[in-house]
Amino acid sequence: MAGIENITQLSNLLNASGVSIDKHTNEWFMRVKKGSTDYLPFLTTEYYLQTALQADDAGCRAILKQIIPDIREFDTAECELKDPLGEEKFSPFPRFVHRYEDRALILVTDRCAMYCRHCFRRSFSGGINGPLSDAELTPMAGYLAEHREINEVLLTGGDPLTLSNERLFKIIARIKSVRPELVVRVCSRMPVVNPDRISRALADGLGSYEGIWFVTHFNHAAELTEYSRAAVRRLLAAGIPVLNQSVLLKGVNDDLSSLKELFQKLLRFGVKPYYLFQGDLARGTSHLRVPLRRALELTSKLKYEISGMAMPRFAVDLPGGGGKITLPSQSHPVDDEGEFYIIKGLDNEEYRYPAN
Ligand SMILES: *Cc1c(COP(=O)(O)O)cnc(C)c1O
Ligand code: SF4
Repeated sequence: MAGIENITQLSNLLNASGVSIDKHTNEWFMRVKKGSTDYLPFLTTEYYLQTALQADDAGCRAILKQIIPDIREFDTAECELKDPLGEEKFSPFPRFVHRYEDRALILVTDRCAMYCRHCFRRSFSGGINGPLSDAELTPMAGYLAEHREINEVLLTGGDPLTLSNERLFKIIARIKSVRPELVVRVCSRMPVVNPDRISRALADGLGSYEGIWFVTHFNHAAELTEYSRAAVRRLLAAGIPVLNQSVLLKGVNDDLSSLKELFQKLLRFGVKPYYLFQGDLARGTSHLRVPLRRALELTSKLKYEISGMAMPRFAVDLPGGGGKITLPSQSHPVDDEGEFYIIKGLDNEEYRYPAN
């Protein structure tokens, strides 16, 4: 699968379809060329870019927003953090997070097939760590063997499916060898950005283990192509349930009809909408973030327009380690100025989240 990794390739493909690159994007590439560090690299797949160019106007815009970098990624809003989920203190060793009692998360690689401009693991994704080594996996297996309260392991990153099938199966086999009953969640955007990666061999290999679930990341109905449908079908045929996590993004899916179409189409594809996330307070993502006040309005209306099966949980990860909180669509208390919602974290402490 061809990857697109520089501005010349990108602008040639866009120009051929009559789309031009704007000032914000040019400035991003110039800034990077000058030797800026600490940014999320540019990379996408030819397939995903073509999906944008073949979609209708709204679909095209929604996909390009996720692909094309913007100089505003270098801005840091006051409330934004390098470690927006406050995960560091729940990490007994590198690349392993045990934040919730019965679930642990392994960052199996920092590579992705495409770097989503809204990524909230952007301080890890596209970095210098590369794939997990056997030496790094060994203490994780030991920890899982010891911590019997853990029931699920999430393989994430980065995108675990940038690893070869052999490497991925080896990691799963290692986990299963210490705790055969563990549920393993494979979190990958490949069904969206490179559906061919979900080969029959991959699906059957995953399906040969018990308790494997697949979680992917569609944000707009235009991403749900016949190729994505075929990828999902291969997983389902191998006995692997498929769930979806979306992120609410400005100019991508922040209106009622886009969300409705996305979730209803996911259902038709056999994918259960699991979460809709409020954009995390990750650095350089404020131009893509939908104000929480508006997000709550949207999700409370949506609930009455689609079925319970189509409706995901709406959740926010509270900054500073308050945890992932499912927000009921009732009104939330605000501070005196009305600028922050006051939301109780998992530790029962009060956290402040910008409302506007
Ligand atoms: C989101 C998350 C999980 C999984 O939580 P679910 O609500 O079960 O999807 C596990 N660990 C960490 C650190 C997370 O951020
Ligand atoms: S595929 Fe996932 S980890 Fe990779 S850039 Fe996109 S959102 Fe981030």
